[in-house]
Amino acid sequence: MKAAVVTDFGKPLEIQDLPTPQPGPGQVLVKMEASGLCHTDIHAAHGDWPVKPQPPFIPGHEGIGPVTAVGPGVSADLVGKRVAVPWLGSSCGTCRYCVSGWETLCESQVNSGYSVDGCYAEYAVADAGAVVQVPDGVSSFDAAPLTCAGVTTYKAIKVAKVVPAERVAVFGIGGLGHLALQYARLVGGLVTAVDLEPDKLGLAHRLGADQTVNARTHDPVKEIKKAGGADVAVVLAAAPQAFEQAYRSLNRGGRLVMVALPADNAAINVPIFETVLGGISVIGSIVGTRQDLSEVFALHAAGRTQVIAETRRLDQVNDSFDEVLGGRAEARLVFEF
Ligand SMILES: [Zn+2]
Ligand SMILES: [Zn+2]
Repeated sequence: MKAAVVTDFGKPLEIQDLPTPQPGPGQVLVKMEASGLCHTDIHAAHGDWPVKPQPPFIPGHEGIGPVTAVGPGVSADLVGKRVAVPWLGSSCGTCRYCVSGWETLCESQVNSGYSVDGCYAEYAVADAGAVVQVPDGVSSFDAAPLTCAGVTTYKAIKVAKVVPAERVAVFGIGGLGHLALQYARLVGGLVTAVDLEPDKLGLAHRLGADQTVNARTHDPVKEIKKAGGADVAVVLAAAPQAFEQAYRSLNRGGRLVMVALPADNAAINVPIFETVLGGISVIGSIVGTRQDLSEVFALHAAGRTQVIAETRRLDQVNDSFDEVLGGRAEARLVFEF
């Protein structure tokens, strides 16, 4: 099978011809139809974060396709079913997080395209318990971005407990942001979209943002305060400055939801006095659970969300990384097979 492989941090990925993996006990083999490019894959390939993957490895955690084989202990009924291979490659199933619907916090989790090979390949093996079935009403092309960008922003809106008429500021439009603003609107939020690129703000406007702010030309804190301040600020831009602006744009009772992961282990200054008196919450939100992803697919199948993405071939992977890093990709890029 063809696969895009990270051979060393910071090096261009190599397209290699590798043997098709065989599903082991508890695993399924998935024939990829679509595989999304998430910014995390670029961080993985660069070894940007404190916990690093081990090259050589195959990135990718937005893989969609039918199950073509199952390993020992897995029901053959799964063969032919279309599934999503998400970031959460597997979890222990028995710890306090796993048994309380927070498997995304499992300390024994493995991650697709990071600690195990992922979906930038014609085939991938995945844990049968971690994959999520894709309903007929959702195309593989749309399902790919929903599998990380969708579920991650859906969860961010959920943990922020947005109620109707609250203002939700979304910092960073693009693969994640264009979906975040749709989920914020679905629960009744008034949306302010913040980005540096006019094209992305145009996209936010088309998708129903109530206010757009170009942070290159305007101070987002001032503009959001003019509109009444944010009750929730979701940060999807990997610049620490965006987190600080998001914090300062909050009303009393506001919730800052941190989602983007800047390189290294960047910190922001959270003033204690203002946080206490303002009753501010700072929330970290990491991807979403299998149940969250099922809900994301159900909403999409019902026509409530729109996925903005473009297709690329797997052999364009390095150019695609450059497009994302240069901010030239309007939203998500999806490799089609
Ligand atoms: Zn991702
Ligand atoms: Zn666990």
